[in-house]
Amino acid sequence: MPSTTDNKMYVIQDVPGKGKGFIASQKIPMGTRILCEEHLITFPETGNEADIKTTIARQVNALPQDQQDMFLSMPNIHPYKTDTERYFGIVRTVSLPIEDAKGQNPAGAIFVEACRINHACDNNAQKGWNANIERFTVHALRDIEKDEEITVYYLGKVTKRETRQAVLKERFGFVCTCRLCSLPPEESHESDKRLEEILRLDRAIEQGGLKGILSRPLQTLRYVERIVQLYKEDNPHDAGLPRAYIDAAQIFIANGDLARGKVMMERAVAGWVVSGGDDCTQVMENKPFIYEPSKHPLFGYNDTWRTAVGDVPADLNENDFEDWLWRRDKPKPAHPSGTVSPLRNRTPFPSFQELPDDKGIDPRYFGQPNEEGVYEQTRHWCFLGEIVNHFTERRLQLELKDVAGRMAHLIYVTVQLEGELGAALAETGHTVAVLYAKLTKYAQIVPASLDALLTLSDEFEELASVQEGTRMCHGCGKKGTSMQWCGRCLTFWYCSKACQEMGWKNKGHKNICRLVKDADFLGLMKLNSAEFSGKVRFHLGTSGA
Ligand SMILES: [Zn+2]
Ligand SMILES: [Zn+2]
Ligand SMILES: [Zn+2]
Repeated sequence: MPSTTDNKMYVIQDVPGKGKGFIASQKIPMGTRILCEEHLITFPETGNEADIKTTIARQVNALPQDQQDMFLSMPNIHPYKTDTERYFGIVRTVSLPIEDAKGQNPAGAIFVEACRINHACDNNAQKGWNANIERFTVHALRDIEKDEEITVYYLGKVTKRETRQAVLKERFGFVCTCRLCSLPPEESHESDKRLEEILRLDRAIEQGGLKGILSRPLQTLRYVERIVQLYKEDNPHDAGLPRAYIDAAQIFIANGDLARGKVMMERAVAGWVVSGGDDCTQVMENKPFIYEPSKHPLFGYNDTWRTAVGDVPADLNENDFEDWLWRRDKPKPAHPSGTVSPLRNRTPFPSFQELPDDKGIDPRYFGQPNEEGVYEQTRHWCFLGEIVNHFTERRLQLELKDVAGRMAHLIYVTVQLEGELGAALAETGHTVAVLYAKLTKYAQIVPASLDALLTLSDEFEELASVQEGTRMCHGCGKKGTSMQWCGRCLTFWYCSKACQEMGWKNKGHKNICRLVKDADFLGLMKLNSAEFSGKVRFHLGTSGA
């Protein structure tokens, strides 16, 4: 017998332009189970159409009169001549998918209430089959106010307006007039862009599969991070979020990071508790991994990010915790002011692990695809690596230490490049700079250690600038208005001959003086500008964009 929750939180009444709709008769708090319903009719998803029609007709005819009337009042967008065809038409229009507790034997089913809740693309409730209790449930995704219509999402994935409208018209026979579909053109375009990007990143994660999360874990994590950000821009409780969190949990667990895996598991489960209840399959399946993430089938593939479950930091503020959680590689500011000097900024100067991949869809560096489907680059970046070892084996090969202190390997593969970046230039202890790595034609070797470069970046900020008419002495650090500059670079300032000598010998100016004037160095210092109007090349100062 069909059953619904006893105390209904809604009334079914006319909604202008939509026929009947479910209207909240009280305030419904987020996470509330609005509906919990047993099926009226069920039929196999696949098989002979005539058999399916017979199965349905037999069940409809066996229903008590009131339920039969209820069934016949449901919408049907398919033409019919016989009762059997009419029943089949209703079923094709409104049936909902169910399956057994093992996630097998997919079938279709008719529910007296759940099948009649209207659609909205920005739905406030989540519908779903709970295989665990064998009921169809509807949960409030956010607080629903009294007199507000309760809506669910009829489509599978999120898509742009045009696609949504076309599918809703074809499959369900109506034109959606929800808030999202009624946005003015510009806002609608923004919303579409957001949804398309989610789809695109989702697809990239899916295509990468297990291999992707093992070979490029940080990259995949950046995709997930962006998806979460995009969902939250529109709705902090979007029903897509648990899926993203579970992706993140799997990336961490597969790479041995149990602490972060646990936190992401918690977030996924918390989301599913809201959208499906604490007895739904996803919660039942994943909740145990919050306590024992090492029992997850993906644990043990890779050990590179190893942490213990207990390594979740307890003393971080919210922002620092998110930085930790998403493995954002943030350098410590070297400046007393707390700002990060240009070359230490990991967005324009990513570590090897943070480099965008060859797909060119990394949201940090690429925007929307243009008409040709090519993702347009939206900002500069440059890989910096100190040469630890170099040898030529058909091509120049470099072993590099990156800005995070990790080793990386660089091989130049184009003939043209060998000319530009000859083996003769490569020297251990010098730094190679690769613009838009791995696009190797944008590479340059800087004759200084990476550490010296980073220090120079800090010093340059402090010393090369005039603040309220005063400059800082590179030797003693005092500030003053009348100082001598270094006659070679004309950039560093000294209050006395003694200070200049100290700066030159003891504070390393000797090693970097030549660099300070270097157009490429100065160009790199400006690489973090928010403006992007085309790629730049070495030599940065001369060729420009
Ligand atoms: Zn809509
Ligand atoms: Zn001085
Ligand atoms: Zn100098």
